[in-house]
Amino acid sequence: MARYTEATCRLCRREGMKLFLKGDRCYTAKCAVERRGYAPGQHGQNRKKLSEYGVQLREKQKARRIYGVLERQFRRYYELATRMKGMTGVNLLTLLETRLDNVVYRLGFARSRAEARQLVRHGHFAVNGRKVSIPSFRVRPGDEVTVRERSRTRPLFEELAQVAAVRTVPAWLESSPTEFKGRVVRLPEREEIDVPVQEHLIVELYSK
Ligand code: SF4
Repeated sequence: MARYTEATCRLCRREGMKLFLKGDRCYTAKCAVERRGYAPGQHGQNRKKLSEYGVQLREKQKARRIYGVLERQFRRYYELATRMKGMTGVNLLTLLETRLDNVVYRLGFARSRAEARQLVRHGHFAVNGRKVSIPSFRVRPGDEVTVRERSRTRPLFEELAQVAAVRTVPAWLESSPTEFKGRVVRLPEREEIDVPVQEHLIVELYSK
């Protein structure tokens, strides 16, 4: 399974904003965007005006980075979104939001999507009672996501249950942190997806 393994904070600096990829560190003064709020690399401090294509490309890269998806898989999501009813851009975001790793993050059982991805990969979660270790697994309305029985007593999950207890969960999800579970009530509406992405720019980029 391919994933990005280079320096994470570079991604935020490239996009010129906090993407909150590292969990707790993102809320401290150690955040690289706070300390070096310019693009990485030798010419990072030279500001240049982006072309129309550049703006669209950056928007797509930003969405990919937020959800931790590589190009090929992101493209597959786009193609799937074009075949669904409704607006392609919104469909794309809905597909990304309903990935199991994102849902685990939204429920508060991880401090970042990267951590959620790793916990899913390591088999700590079940969907409707069955172990699922595929971060891209698509959850559907009515699905119940639980921390598996044997993982609940681990100190990490005791700590994460406390994180989940104070996390604001979007209305399309229901969380019961003390029972180590959550439920997908329905699919999210666009306004409930709080990612700083203008999805129409991604659609414009891919439909060229
Ligand atoms: Fe981005 Fe978090 Fe790194 Fe800040 S600390 S640059 S928000 S990943």
